[in-house]
Amino acid sequence: MQTDHFLPPCALTIAGSDSGGGAGIQADLKAFAAHGVHGLSVLAALTAQHTRGVTAVHVPDPGFLRAQLDACFDDFRIPAVKLGMLANAAVIHAVADALEHYRPACVVVDPVMISTSGARLLEADALDAVRDRLLPLASLVTPNLPEAELLLGHAIPDLAAMHEAAGELRASGVAAVLLKGGHLEDGGNEVPDLFVDESTTEVITHPRLDLESHGTGCTLASAVAANLALGKPMRQACVDASDYVHRALRGSYRPGKGKVVVLDHF
Ligand code: PLP
Repeated sequence: MQTDHFLPPCALTIAGSDSGGGAGIQADLKAFAAHGVHGLSVLAALTAQHTRGVTAVHVPDPGFLRAQLDACFDDFRIPAVKLGMLANAAVIHAVADALEHYRPACVVVDPVMISTSGARLLEADALDAVRDRLLPLASLVTPNLPEAELLLGHAIPDLAAMHEAAGELRASGVAAVLLKGGHLEDGGNEVPDLFVDESTTEVITHPRLDLESHGTGCTLASAVAANLALGKPMRQACVDASDYVHRALRGSYRPGKGKVVVLDHF
């Protein structure tokens, strides 16, 4: 039997597991599958989690993390990698060491810090490791406003400040930025996501949906990585991923007892 008539590209997520299946690795793999991309996953953290919050976190030791990374890079061609919850500085250093060694073409960094439910997903003293080790490796960084405020050390109150913040992130060595405006207080009925690279500045807007959602950031970054694995240029990968998340949110459903909805990927 011939099994290689169609060979989908691979994308790798290095992130945290969400036992509730709404965010993290589980959202990433669903987004990869929905894009026709073969998903690889390296578990950098495990969360005990449901639609009301995170109840426990377990972080595997860096040696086991590296074994997972070596297993993936030893066997698969990996054009695109997505980074999500990395939990602490030791994990960040192990991931950065491996990426510097294997040099995948595209690295999408979602600098996950605090969940929508308020759980800390990155230790407070790991911010420097994000700035010093991850941002220089990033083809794209996808912070939400609270994450960008922590990275830059100042408030980002409006769209004008978003433009300045994206410029500052680029000046720190990041190739491209997708700054998510969902937390903007004066955003009105639209959610502006700001894309900036060396030649383009574009505000990607979608109507604001009145939903308490879970896993949108993970899904967006994974959809970008999937699009890059499929060969799309960065701007197109981001615009298409943003549309994808908006569609997935429109079909979202509430699988647990909490208010939170998760995205419908299919
Ligand atoms: N849990 C894990 C493992 C995650 O990686 C993330 C986000 O990246 C979250 C939870 C938080 O998702 P949200 O803020 O959408 O609830």
